[in-house]
This record gives sequence, C-alpha cells and structure tokens, in this order.
Amino acid sequence: MQLLTTCAGCAAPLAPVAKQCSRCKTRYCGSACQIRHWEEGHKDLCKQIKRGGGAERYFASQKYEEAKTEAVEECAEDTKGQTCYICMEGVQRRHAPDEGLVRRCACRGTAGVAHLSCLIRMASVRENDDIGVRGTWCQWHTCHTCKSKFHGGMACALGWAFWKHSLDETKDDPTDVVPAATITRIDRALGTLCGGLFEKGRHEDLIAVGKVHLEWVQRYKPDDRVGIIRIRSNLASCHGSLGQHELALDMGRDVYAMHVFNQSPMDEICHAAYTLAQHLVEAEKYDEARLLVQERLPDVMKLEHTEGPEFNLQFRRLTGLIEYLTGDDAQKAKAVDFLKKVLESSCQHLGEGHPLTLTIQHTLVGVVNGYYPGDEGNRSSDGEFTSALGTYVKHMGKAPNVELVEVQNPVQITRDAGPAPRDRSSRPARE
Ligand SMILES: [Zn+2]
Ligand SMILES: [Zn+2]
Ligand SMILES: [Zn+2]
Ligand SMILES: [Zn+2]
Repeated sequence: MQLLTTCAGCAAPLAPVAKQCSRCKTRYCGSACQIRHWEEGHKDLCKQIKRGGGAERYFASQKYEEAKTEAVEECAEDTKGQTCYICMEGVQRRHAPDEGLVRRCACRGTAGVAHLSCLIRMASVRENDDIGVRGTWCQWHTCHTCKSKFHGGMACALGWAFWKHSLDETKDDPTDVVPAATITRIDRALGTLCGGLFEKGRHEDLIAVGKVHLEWVQRYKPDDRVGIIRIRSNLASCHGSLGQHELALDMGRDVYAMHVFNQSPMDEICHAAYTLAQHLVEAEKYDEARLLVQERLPDVMKLEHTEGPEFNLQFRRLTGLIEYLTGDDAQKAKAVDFLKKVLESSCQHLGEGHPLTLTIQHTLVGVVNGYYPGDEGNRSSDGEFTSALGTYVKHMGKAPNVELVEVQNPVQITRDAGPAPRDRSSRPARE
C-alpha cells in the first residue's frame, strides 16, 4: 500500500518493487539515485524519517502539514477570535502547541469552529468505538454539528490526516492476509483523500492517489463494480481537467462501455454517455459524438427529473451543438431551432441568470455566428465575449419567444466545455 510511487531522487515513476533505503524505506529507481540523494541531504534526514514511522508515513505527515497550513490560512478570516467547539480554546492553547482554527461547512456564527488536531482526535476515537460494530468514518469528512461535508483546504487536510491515521492503524502483516476492517478503512481513507484533493483542485495528486485506490479496490473488493467504475470515471474527468483529452477520451469510452455491459441503471448510462460525448467533442470526433447522443437522447427524455432539469438541458444543449457541427446547411438551421427551444426551457425552468442558461445562450450565439469549429477561444472570462453575449441577452428580454439578434463585435469562441458533469459522477465517491 504505497502512495509514494516516484523515486525520491529523480521523481521517475517506480515499479511496485523498488530499491529502498534499508533504514527508512525511502524508495529509489536505482543505486545511482540513492547515492546521490544520500549526499544531497538524505543522510541528515534518514533517522528522522525512520523515527516518523518510515518513508510512507513521513510523506503522509508532510502532506498533512502542508495542507493544514493552507486550510488554516484559508479559514483565518472566518475564524478570527473564535474558539474550538471541541477543546473550548482559541488559537493559543494552554496544553498543546498553538494551532490555527478551521471551519469549512454549513455552520454559521460561532458553531463548527475547531482545531484540525481536535477534529482528528475526535474522528480517530469515534472510529475505534465503532469498529466491528458498524464502522463509521464519517467524521473524517462530515461536520458533526451541521452534517454537511467539509470543503476546500480543510477537506484536503483531513483527507491526508485520515490516510496517515489508516497507515498508523495498519499492521504490516507478513502473511499477506488483510483483515476486513483494514480493507474498508483504507478504501474509505483513499476515497476521502481523493474527495479532499478534488475539493482543492489538486488534479495531479488526485490522479496518483486515485490509481492506488483503484488498484486497492480491484484487488480486495473486486465485486464492488459500481465503486470501481466510479473511481475510473473520476480519473477520466481529472485527466480532462488537466488537458489530457486523448487519455480522458479512452477512459470515458471504457467507463461508458462498462456501464452498458453491466446493465447499470439508465441514469448512470446516460450520464456516462454525456461525459463521453463531451470528451469526443474536445477531440473533434464529431461524427462519433453524434451517433452517441442520437442513440441516448430518447433515454434522456424519459429520465425522471429527480435531480432537477439540469441534466436534460445539458444533454440537449450538447446534442444541438453536435448536430450543428456535423450537419449540412438545412441541418444546421434545424440545430439552431433546436437550441432555441433548449434555451427557452432553460429560461423557464432555471431562469435567465442561471449559469446553465448562460452556457446555452453562449452555445447559441456561437453557432449563429459560425464560431464553431475554429481556433482556441474562451467564454465568460473574456470581456469581449461577455459584451457580445450581453447584446444577445438584452434583446431576448423576457419574451417567451427567443429572438436571435446580430451580435456586435463577434469574437472567436470555439471551445465549449459546458457545465461540469453532475456531482455524483464528477466528484470522487465519499462515504
Ligand atoms: Zn531516480
Ligand atoms: Zn533513509
Ligand atoms: Zn481544539
Ligand atoms: Zn458544520
């Protein structure tokens, strides 16, 4: 069970079995790196790492300390002059090192403010109480007071703390038989850590941890199909966020195929189709994207709007865009009409100021002005584009019939990632 998957000397990826420092277990790609690293300062750190429980635990502690500093800074304004609801002390404490306060949940006023170390102590104690009974780990990611999930840097810090804690609790077992409680704890710890890294936008760390998590679940919980597909889907989205579109596309294809093969619920299949179609558009594989959305559109229209109308609108927006990109002149005109209808229903269901309504308007302005496909371009952050959109919005008014208008000073806009897929598929699964 290792998150340290790169050489300490040169940062190259390591094989599962690699050369390691005999004292502290720091890992290397080979002797050359180990010798150089020793001379460059490892000789002064080695004993300290050993005392910290070895390289893997030392790495987890370092990551936690970094994340803690960020979380405390992030919360400084919000927690100024407050006291910890667990130990009832402020930033300065009588019997423990000074430590900043954090709060990143739905709590307001004086509620929910705490020291990270107090939250960690509470989460560890809770786990030990419950283990073997029903095993709850929710205090690592959910506020005890308001029951909402932690977010931002605080979620990230607690994720690293949970991982470190699970290493402390895991005995190195020479027989290679892993107890069920350990399997579950590590699964939850890695899931929580992935969630925290996602919260903080740490996509690269998230990919490394997500891969380890995937291997772990595949090895020890091979029957957890939904869990496995969800980890893969999260990884695909991360690669997409990092601009690795080819890889994201390959993984998106796998995820979609697995859902179809496993006969997953139709909403899972439709969401995976949507994500895959987005990856296909990014890769300019418009014809394949068209076949996919055409096949799934009837299913999407039959889905109950249990999560609100957003997904239906997102899917139709993407369908309209793809129809436009692949069609002849007559089909392009139809696609424009189709998008107008999508915009009308978005105005009706979500309102004119809703981010999704604005995204649909953006797509419509883009197709009417023939910006697709073209060079690189940006939406919303681009001042010029905003004014072009403004012209359109102003003329649209509140009338039920959407009228297209000439956009002054059109700018080049092409890339249209659209809204992120829903929480359930884009966010790492957390218990
Ligand atoms: Zn190396
Ligand atoms: Zn060493
Ligand atoms: Zn405290
Ligand atoms: Zn709270």
